[in-house]
Amino acid sequence: MINEFLYVYDDFKRPVNSLRIQVNAICNYHCMFCHMEGTDRNLSYMSPDEIEKVVKVASSFGVSRIKITGGEPLLRHDIIEIIKRIKKYIDDISMTTNGVMLNKLAFSLKEAGLKRVNISMHALNDNDYLKITGNSRDFRPDVIDGIKSAHLAGLEPVKINFVVLKGINDDKINEMMDFCLENDAILQLIEYEAPREAENSIEYKKYHVDLSKINDDLRKMSIEYKRNTLHNRPVYSIPWKNGIVKVEVVMPMHNKDFCMHCTRLRLTADGKFKTCLLRNNDYFNIKSFDEDYLRELYIKAVKNRIPYWR
Ligand code: SAM
Repeated sequence: MINEFLYVYDDFKRPVNSLRIQVNAICNYHCMFCHMEGTDRNLSYMSPDEIEKVVKVASSFGVSRIKITGGEPLLRHDIIEIIKRIKKYIDDISMTTNGVMLNKLAFSLKEAGLKRVNISMHALNDNDYLKITGNSRDFRPDVIDGIKSAHLAGLEPVKINFVVLKGINDDKINEMMDFCLENDAILQLIEYEAPREAENSIEYKKYHVDLSKINDDLRKMSIEYKRNTLHNRPVYSIPWKNGIVKVEVVMPMHNKDFCMHCTRLRLTADGKFKTCLLRNNDYFNIKSFDEDYLRELYIKAVKNRIPYWR
């Protein structure tokens, strides 16, 4: 472990303590709303060794949380090796996955050092699930097995990512709360996110739901209310049926507070630092994995972070 904690701050006094690593840019799903972490689908990927070098540098600047994403990260045959390499420097490693392959991999992931998982599950019935994921086969049973295996392996807490879509699943939040209660998971309600230039598209307007009203209702129902340090997101504990369900609400759109509490830098599958999901002109291309060069580029990328909504 590196003990030197030397955060780099941007001009808005925001430190960076988390790195979101896109380990590939291909996926076995074609979710209708997918932002692909601000990249295109492509076949690029960094080797475990290259990822380790970036993580080593990031950890020396105080990064203590890594989120692994994709594409679909579990499609990488060397995902276990990647986690082992990251674990040398970072304890808090989590992953966002569609969960289809999690059943097979949960125990090896845990053993390698993965701490927790977010599993995307945007519908509980086959029609909606197939429509949203753009698949012809319904993999929900595999995903549900994946959730169970995640618990058995100790990948805690398990969060369910649920992007709220008007006319498709926005009337299913209660059912998702039932599902999360039954499956001992935290429900993460996510607002459909898009950059300014896409906000007026027919597609976005058709499906986007402003989560403010849902958020207000949840707050009123809650018996406890906390803030996740990343983005200052609210997390509610809601008495539900015979138990308590935790619900986190992710409301990025036009949310200055969300951006002011952003402490994240991104690393794309093709080896670029990226300062913000929604920007398309903020790539810092890693031209060499030499440590001194990576340190310089890291500082440059962090210094160029600007809140998207301000
Ligand atoms: N394939 C993995 C998965 O499905 O979780 C990881 C990649 S996916 C891009 C990461 C997360 O971003 C998922 O939970 C997904 O639902 C969410 N996401 C994708 N596009 C989004 C959008 N336009 N607005 C909000 N969330 C989105």
